[in-house]
Amino acid sequence: MLRLKRAVIFLLCVIFLSVFAVLSSASKQNSLLIINAQVADGTGAPLRQANVRVDLGHIVGVGDLTPKKGETVIDATGLVLAPGFIDIHNHSADGLLTDPQAESQIAQGITSLIVGPDGESPWPIINWVRTIQQLHTAPNVGIFAGHATIRKQAMGQDYKHAATPGEMKMMELFMGQAMNQQALGLSSGLEYEVGSYSNTDELVDLAKIAAQHGGIYMTHIRDEGDNSFQALDEEMMIAERAHIPVEHSHIKLGTVRVHGNAASFINVINEARQRGIDFMADCYPYDAWHADIKVLVPSKEYDHPSTVARALEDVGGASHVTITEFKPNPSYVGHTLADLAKANHVSDEDMYIRLIHDGDAANTEAMIICQSIIESDIKAFFQQPWVMVASDGGIANSHPRGAGTFPRVLGVYVREKHWLTLPEAIRKMTSLPAQRLSWEDRGVIREGAFADLVLFNPDTVIDKSTYTNPEALSTGIEKVFVNGELVWDKGKPTSARPGHFIGRRGAASDLLN
Ligand SMILES: [Zn+2]
Repeated sequence: MLRLKRAVIFLLCVIFLSVFAVLSSASKQNSLLIINAQVADGTGAPLRQANVRVDLGHIVGVGDLTPKKGETVIDATGLVLAPGFIDIHNHSADGLLTDPQAESQIAQGITSLIVGPDGESPWPIINWVRTIQQLHTAPNVGIFAGHATIRKQAMGQDYKHAATPGEMKMMELFMGQAMNQQALGLSSGLEYEVGSYSNTDELVDLAKIAAQHGGIYMTHIRDEGDNSFQALDEEMMIAERAHIPVEHSHIKLGTVRVHGNAASFINVINEARQRGIDFMADCYPYDAWHADIKVLVPSKEYDHPSTVARALEDVGGASHVTITEFKPNPSYVGHTLADLAKANHVSDEDMYIRLIHDGDAANTEAMIICQSIIESDIKAFFQQPWVMVASDGGIANSHPRGAGTFPRVLGVYVREKHWLTLPEAIRKMTSLPAQRLSWEDRGVIREGAFADLVLFNPDTVIDKSTYTNPEALSTGIEKVFVNGELVWDKGKPTSARPGHFIGRRGAASDLLN
C-alpha cells in the first residue's frame, strides 16, 4: 500500500514538473514578428514587402500580419529579410572547436556551414559530430566525408599509388560508415597530394556508395589550370558512372593559358546538364586562390627550375604569389615570392625551390595566396543559374574570403557592378545550396521552414576583410537568426548557440541526437 502511495506521489511530481517545464518554455519563447522588411524569399522572386512571424524555431506566417499581444516586434524598415546563407564549402571543422560562436561567419549572415571539403574531413565523423553537439555552435553545421581522409585511413603513409583491391575494400567500408554517420556525401581534392594518386575508378567506386545513401559528390577537380578541361571531363565521367549529383568546388580557370575560356567551360557544363548530369558549382568572389605552394606545380617536379619557371609564368609571375604561412621562416609571411627572391639575390624559381626544401626539411609546406583568376571569368561563372556562392574560407582564415565572401557578393557584385540582381544573389546563397543538399526546409522564407534568417542593409552591406587584414568583420548585416534565435545583433554576436547538426535531407539524425 505504502509502495503504491509513493508511486502515485512520484507520478504526480513528474506530471507537475513536465507541465511546469512546458509552461515556462512557452512563456520564454514569445513569438516574434518582423515588420516592414523587403523580403527576398530565397527563390529568386522579386523583393516584396511582407511581415514574417517566427515561433518555436520556425517561420509560422508570411504576409500582411499584425502584431499579437505580447509579441516581440522588430521594425525592419529599409532592410532586406532573406533566408540565412548556406556555405556549402567551409573549412571551419577545427575552428568551430575553439570558436563555436563563429563570429566571422555569422557576421556575414551564414547560418549553416558545411565542413569537410577538398577531400579532408575530421575522422571518424561521428566523433566530430558528437563534440560539436556537446559544444553547441551558433550556426548549423553539416559535414562531407573526405576522400583523402578515407584514403589515408585505408593506406596509411603508403598512398602514392592507385588503391589495390584490398585497399579499395577498406575504403568502401569507411565510405559506407561515413554515410551512416550522416555525411552529406563524398568530397575530393584531386589537386592535392593524397588525392592526386587516385584514379577515376577509385572515385567512381566511392561515389557510388555515397549515391546509394542519397549523398552527393563535391569535388576540387584534378586541375584548375592548363588541364582544367580534362579535369572537367573526368568529373562528368564520375557523375555519369556513379549516377550521383555533383557540386563542383570553387569553379575557376587559374592559369594564363585558360584565362578567358569561361564561355567554353560553361558550354561543356551546359551540354552535360542537358545529357542529364545533375551538375552545380560554387564560386568565391575573389581573383586569388589560397592553397599550399606545391599546388603551383601539378607535375610534382618541384625541383626542376624550368618546370617551376613555367609554373610561375602560368599564374602571371612570382609577383602574383604571396606567402601566408611558413613555419621555418615566419618573416616571409606577407611577402611575394618575387620580393623574397630579390631580397635573397636568387631567381624566382630558385626561391620557390628553396621554400620547398626548407618546408620539406621541417615536414611542412608554405601556404600561399596566388592571384591568378581574371574578372571576366569570375563574372561569367557567377552569372550561371547553377552557380552558387560559397566561401572556401571559414573561421580564422588567412584569405579574406573567410570573413568577407557573402557581403562582398551583395556589396560589390550586386550593388556596385550590377552583375546580379539582389534576389538572384540571395537565391545563390540560400535555396540553391539547400537544393544541392536536399534540405527542403531551409534556404527559403515560407511558412513551415526553419527560421534561419538574415536582416541586412542593401545600401551598406560590404566586406571589410583584405589580404593584409583577412579577419576583419563584414558590416551591414544587422541581425541573424538561427532556428529562430538571434545570434547576431547590432554588430555583435549574442551568446546564443542554437545551431543544429544537419544530415541528409535536412534531418538531424536520431542516431546522433
Ligand atoms: Zn579546394
